Amino acid sequence: MRTIPHWIGGAPHVPDGCATAPVWNPATGDTCAAVPLGATAEVDAAVQAAAGAYAAWRHTSLSRRTEILFRFRDLVASHADGIAEIIVREHGKVLADARGEVRRGLDVVEFACGIPQLLKGEFSENVSTGIDTWSVRQPLGIVAGITPFNFPAMVPMWMFPIAIACGNAFVLKPSEKDPSASILLAELWQRAGLPDGVFNVVHGRKEAVNAILAHPAIAAVSFVGSTPVARAVWEAATRSGKRVQALGGAKNHMIVMPDAAMDEAADAAISAAYGSAGERCMAISVVVAVAGAADDVVPRIAQRLERITVGDGFDETSQMGPLITREHRDRVAGYIERGMNEGARVVADGRALHVRGREAGFFLGPCLLDHVTPDMSVYRDEIFGPVLSVVRAPSYEAARDLVNGNPWANGVAIFTSDGATARRFQNEIEVGMVGINVPIPVPMAYYSFGGWRGSLFGDAHVYGEEGIRFCTRAKVITSHWSATTPERAALNFPTAR
Ligand code: NAD
Repeated sequence: MRTIPHWIGGAPHVPDGCATAPVWNPATGDTCAAVPLGATAEVDAAVQAAAGAYAAWRHTSLSRRTEILFRFRDLVASHADGIAEIIVREHGKVLADARGEVRRGLDVVEFACGIPQLLKGEFSENVSTGIDTWSVRQPLGIVAGITPFNFPAMVPMWMFPIAIACGNAFVLKPSEKDPSASILLAELWQRAGLPDGVFNVVHGRKEAVNAILAHPAIAAVSFVGSTPVARAVWEAATRSGKRVQALGGAKNHMIVMPDAAMDEAADAAISAAYGSAGERCMAISVVVAVAGAADDVVPRIAQRLERITVGDGFDETSQMGPLITREHRDRVAGYIERGMNEGARVVADGRALHVRGREAGFFLGPCLLDHVTPDMSVYRDEIFGPVLSVVRAPSYEAARDLVNGNPWANGVAIFTSDGATARRFQNEIEVGMVGINVPIPVPMAYYSFGGWRGSLFGDAHVYGEEGIRFCTRAKVITSHWSATTPERAALNFPTAR
């Protein structure tokens, strides 16, 4: 059995006799590797390597950093298929979707290639006579990233290209469920010329995360994962004086107005609810059908569900793969029974799905529940699987209030053909990322990604300019190099003259 190594100081590392966890191939139900479960010793070693490398990296010229970033960008692009295949093997999503994930990660690397422009400060000449003031943004030191299973390449790439471009060293703790992509990315950094120790990977679970949160030499933590863990990470990191951004879970609504183009809305609901088997933080898990829209849109969604092909992600005919683990598959499947018992109408039940030749895989077919109400557990909980609920709302205002009253606020969409409704919605809706006739409004790399309320703890969104600010701190310098004779000593507070 292959053991996936940690990556510390530019070298793979598997401690003797370490505890490991299995990594599953969710399509076959077999274990495909073992992952070491790091803790304090491995985090210490990674931080030591990072601290050693940071001393020189922070002084490395912007031109040299950019050169390495461009080379890394080309290496990721030329290894995109290899990275995508690793993702399919350990995560289960279909190959085309995995390629899309790599592409969206690459967008952030490309954004980070513009670091000389992004790090430019401001300069004011003569703020007072003979005195100039300017600002710079300097790296924090060591930044850590803790990432979820559902985007094993893209979410780490939301974080480390920017942190490293800004002059920091980075310690990544990827999901233990699909950890291999992070090691290929580490090898590509090395081939791109990144000095050893600037990028490190420590595998593990809670113990590794706790060691990161407690480590005094780690200045900042970027976390992405479920809301309870995000909240706990934010609290612990804040307590130990770190800068932290902790992105949590989601329950994304798609409002369908009666004037929406119903076929487009149904297509959008299908792709956003069932793509990646619903294991996306921007997946649509609730359609809010306003007034008579439900009777129009639900049959259209149901019709399309019959045509979704579920299977091994390597099979080119598959549109949806398995769930990440057997336990997760069973938990998600349990919501169909619960929804039924709570009074929802099951329009499509994926539990009986049979994938020929993949009987031990963690598959669940698409499920659709209608007449869901906000008190039901299928509405209240983040299910994170191929289960779409339809809630019926009497009016736009009722739909808006439902969304604004939900504890999560990651993404939201409205489907309408009325510009005034759309404009009112984008103004009134209290959610971080908003789509108008766009079901998965994931911002491009030159904007920033983040939700509100229980979907983000901390102030800064990831990547984009917010990412640059998160990974640096501002310094403002005021300097006097004038040839004029300084004023005689005065004890009053300095003001401009
Ligand atoms: P998770 O919270 O279980 O795990 C995330 C990370 O935290 C992993 O690295 C994991 O090893 C670690 N971890 C797990 N339990 C921990 C604990 N008790 N203490 C400390 N660390 C712990 O999340 P997941 O199941 O890997 O990912 C799915 C979740 O992530 C969903 O809730 C999804 O909505 C969310 N997500 C959010 C975003 C976003 O941008 N808001 C993006 C992707 C995923």
